[in-house]
Amino acid sequence: MELKICHLYPDVLNLYGDGGNILCMKRRLLWRGLGAEIVKMPIGSTGTLSGFDLVFIGGGQDFEQQVLLEDLHRGRDREILAAIGDGVVFLTICGGYQLTGHYYETYDGQRCDFIGALDLKTIGGKKRMIGNYKFECTPEAGGSVVVGFENHSGRTYLGPSLAPLGRVLAGCGNNGEDGTEGAHFKNVFGTYSHGPLLPKNPAFCDLLLAAALERKYGRAELAPLDDAAELAAHDEMCGRI
Ligand code: GLN
Repeated sequence: MELKICHLYPDVLNLYGDGGNILCMKRRLLWRGLGAEIVKMPIGSTGTLSGFDLVFIGGGQDFEQQVLLEDLHRGRDREILAAIGDGVVFLTICGGYQLTGHYYETYDGQRCDFIGALDLKTIGGKKRMIGNYKFECTPEAGGSVVVGFENHSGRTYLGPSLAPLGRVLAGCGNNGEDGTEGAHFKNVFGTYSHGPLLPKNPAFCDLLLAAALERKYGRAELAPLDDAAELAAHDEMCGRI
């Protein structure tokens, strides 16, 4: 069994080592004797999104989000919508998460029209929401407690029927107001948690891998791993936050 993983826009959306999440997914597959093929798809790539089992989109600053807009609306938007409709697993982080919504309006009034795959919008605020934080995933998203790092000025608001990824335990999450963090729609998992999200949250990583394997093969056999180091990192941060 093998997963084909796309890193979309690694040239502009890859803050704080977001791409390390792909290494983590690959490593956790290889440790179990499963395969992983990683394909990077930067701006201007002529490759198609079809055929991927998992798509990763990281975070970026307002500037990078604006830079990719032209490429996004040259057809990549329709491909993302089709893949989401087809149940492909997406992990999207911060700027990449905002991109799956309707739009992002910056604090100084510039509007980035995104793809509206998820019923959410983001409005730039004066104060940045920055720091280590933690949240508890909904039961539908596995129920694990995730420790992460957020840095965004955008406040994201979910439409009435869009489920959050989880509930904030400490920090700001989507907007610092309603206690929600991220969004979960079909197999799309959107979060504000940057950088090495998956290495120190192995349960969340395995949830994504299992969803992708199940979609592709009808079953997900994820043998248990020795996660002592990963869980020690998780628990240490959980205690500190
Ligand atoms: N530009 C967005 C914001 O500040 C996203 C930032 C990011 O991806 N870190 O809200």
